Amino acid sequence: MDPVLRRSLRSLAAAGVRRLPRALFDVQAARDRAPAAARDRAPAGGAAAAASAAASGTPVERAPVVNAGNESSTSAGSAAHFATVLEPRALERPSDPVAELDAVAAEVSDCRACTLCEGRHHTVPGEGSPNARVMFIGEGPGADEDRTGRPFVGRAGKLLDDIITKGMRIAREDVFIANVVKCRPPNNRAPTADESAACRGYLQRQIAAVSPAVICTLGATATHLLLETDSPMSRLRGREHSWRGLPVIPTYHPAYLLRNEAAKRPTWEDIQRVMQRANNA
Ligand code: SF4
Repeated sequence: MDPVLRRSLRSLAAAGVRRLPRALFDVQAARDRAPAAARDRAPAGGAAAAASAAASGTPVERAPVVNAGNESSTSAGSAAHFATVLEPRALERPSDPVAELDAVAAEVSDCRACTLCEGRHHTVPGEGSPNARVMFIGEGPGADEDRTGRPFVGRAGKLLDDIITKGMRIAREDVFIANVVKCRPPNNRAPTADESAACRGYLQRQIAAVSPAVICTLGATATHLLLETDSPMSRLRGREHSWRGLPVIPTYHPAYLLRNEAAKRPTWEDIQRVMQRANNA
């Protein structure tokens, strides 16, 4: 184990911190997988900074870490890059998906990894079947979701309900619904890149736990995060993409559909693709 990380872990233990962020282990795992030469080139600050953040409860400027996938190091220190270098990890379904989803919800309820924690009334981890064949991923909680702690329960949620129950003819309880961030951004703004990056570990664990046959991203925020692109939705929707071997079908966010009647038809085409995938996979 990296000596800087070891010292940080000791400090955390002394401070009484018992639950460590998964990012800490991810960083160390990436370092452990990297060849020795690359490891030597890579600053140890990424893991230490994550440890320090866990102790202070404040977000950190991520230090560069080794990209275990191509054995190169980088000077890009953004949170988005930090998330990217962890991508080569294979998606593994945990042995007890229900326990893992419960653990994610419990960790989210205490999470202070980004400033969105400051304005929340309830965290909104997500809900649905741990064995869902379809997983919907939206942007973040709105006022109704923040009040109830449940995803997609406002006007946009009612429209998503209709898509699921009347369009797909399945129960809402049979899909899994999550968001990119689990706390409400102020004034319903889109989450920043740093907020999305701080929260994405929870989403990745939820995807791994559910292991759906198909993911349907709702709107640009979720689509851009998962596919790591900033292309417009008009170019991304209408076809199938892939994330770690899972089919990803982007479509418009229900809130957008409430304002744009014309987007309902292409959305229905996307949902038909989702159903096809769910039935055939
Ligand atoms: S949005 Fe996510 S990362 Fe930020 S405080 Fe909430 S749970 Fe933590």
